Amino acid sequence: MALAKLKSMPVSALMGRLKAGLLSRNVFIAAMALAIWLIATSNDVFWSVIEFVRANKVGFFDDVLTFFTVAVVSLTIAVLLRSRDLAGEIKQRKLAEDEANALARRDALTGLPNRRSFEEELGGLIAMARQGRGCLALFIVDLDRFKPVNDTNGHLVGDEVLQVVATRIRRCVGTEDTVARLGGDEFAIVRPFSGDQEQLADVARRVNEALAEPMIVDATEVDVTASVGIAVYPDDATTAAQLAQKADLAMYKAKGGGRNRYAFYEAGLSRRRLENATLETNLRRAIREKEIAPHYQPLFLLADRSLAGFEVLARWEHPEIGRVAPDVFIPLAERAGVINDLTWCIVRQACEDAAGWPEPVFVAFNISVIHMQDKSLPQRLQAIAEEAGFALSRLEVEITESALVADFNAAKETIATLKALGIHVVLDDFGTGYSSLRYLSELPFDKVKIDRRFIAKRRSNPKNERIVASIIGLARSLGLSVVAEGVESEEDAAWLQELGCQQAQGYLFSPAMSADQADTYITRRVALYERLDAADSARAQVA
Ligand code: C2E
Ligand code: CA
Ligand code: CA
Repeated sequence: MALAKLKSMPVSALMGRLKAGLLSRNVFIAAMALAIWLIATSNDVFWSVIEFVRANKVGFFDDVLTFFTVAVVSLTIAVLLRSRDLAGEIKQRKLAEDEANALARRDALTGLPNRRSFEEELGGLIAMARQGRGCLALFIVDLDRFKPVNDTNGHLVGDEVLQVVATRIRRCVGTEDTVARLGGDEFAIVRPFSGDQEQLADVARRVNEALAEPMIVDATEVDVTASVGIAVYPDDATTAAQLAQKADLAMYKAKGGGRNRYAFYEAGLSRRRLENATLETNLRRAIREKEIAPHYQPLFLLADRSLAGFEVLARWEHPEIGRVAPDVFIPLAERAGVINDLTWCIVRQACEDAAGWPEPVFVAFNISVIHMQDKSLPQRLQAIAEEAGFALSRLEVEITESALVADFNAAKETIATLKALGIHVVLDDFGTGYSSLRYLSELPFDKVKIDRRFIAKRRSNPKNERIVASIIGLARSLGLSVVAEGVESEEDAAWLQELGCQQAQGYLFSPAMSADQADTYITRRVALYERLDAADSARAQVA
């Protein structure tokens, strides 16, 4: 039994016991030696012997006694010194062991508690709350689109982003709150809950805002937002594991709602999670049954505000879940290996929808990174457009920088074939990657699309204004046309036009609309142009 117990003991504990045993044995020997010496010296017989030895000059005994006394004193000193050393050693080992334990409980990158230690702490806090009849709130903070940040800027930048995120989250909470990194780009906060839900919403809002603030890492502006899910003990769950699961569900709800937002756990989310789990299966059905359909957002020429074309944006109206954002289902389709079916379904539908639209209105498709490695992409586009009777010269393909990073040479070949067919090629989300200039100089793009984040943040960060001005200047000097997305105000439009940007797209003009709405929109615009033309020619006749 005892042996079994010893065998199961951790080495550190075993060492501790051993050292403690050694220490007590040494102290015991020293104490015994001292005791013997004291007893001996306090004894009359001892002194009589000394007297006898001295009186009779028994040299041998004299030496033995001196030796005995010196030996006892030296042994005592040696043992005491050794005991002191051992005590120091034990203390050192204890410190090292404590440090190793603390390290095993911390996340090395951010210094925050890691998942293991967080789970323990959450369990402890729940137990305390249970005893004291208190309430707790758990926040799960998950970064949106962290993967592209890592992919385009490299892991070193990604690591630094996570450190900044950790610091910013910590700044949003109080001293009584616990912040941890659960792994990857997922963080958690636990805080006492007074019953005021608005307070929790306030914290979540602060986290959303703090993370959306401009972040410059390694001279690159990185865009990070987060989705925050909140669940409350004991309303939503009574165990740590359940609470974490509920907060996770709420976080997915926030993501589904469009990211950079927070959501509270609601009963019913579990059901939704079940549906989410089968989202992948649903996705195949959705593609087959055309639940996912192309929507169209118009692009305008800034010079005369005439309609230039439409960007095709996929929309999924799930019969039970409601609208699922493309940022959610496109990556899902890529992972599930159904992106091909999805893309071709959207392209075919869009070419059919746009076949009756007046020239020279163009249609621009977003192409997933996966297609850039597919050599048959240009020919498939060609076949579908020709079948629908849509001229290839009215087709645009938008390629993001991250799609180019994956396999530059394959992308280069695909772009060359697209161009040879007369299809226009656009560099999408320009400025969000880190080697945009290389792409501009080495690939034959027709157009550059300035990412909406630069336009949205132009007022909050004057640097963005200068970046936009430089992009426009650079693109124009290379003979490329420039389109700005995310134009939401007349002021932005006027400013962009002044800088020489030719096209714009954004809520100022219109959000994406269905094919029917686009038909009506075009008819109205055509009627408006005709009226304007008629008015112009009437004015000319009068003059
Ligand atoms: P993107 O290519 O950058 O598309 C522009 C996004 O900006 C769209 O979001 C659009 O609705 C939004 N937007 C347009 N004007 C404004 C504005 O004035 N203000 C703001 N704040 N936003 C505006 P959406 O439709 O959610 O699409 C998100 C992303 O999903 C797209 O980003 C694109 O990368 C991807 N995506 C959408 N449809 C498809 C598709 O059919 N295939 C592929 N591969 N990707 C798609
Ligand atoms: Ca796009
Ligand atoms: Ca964009």
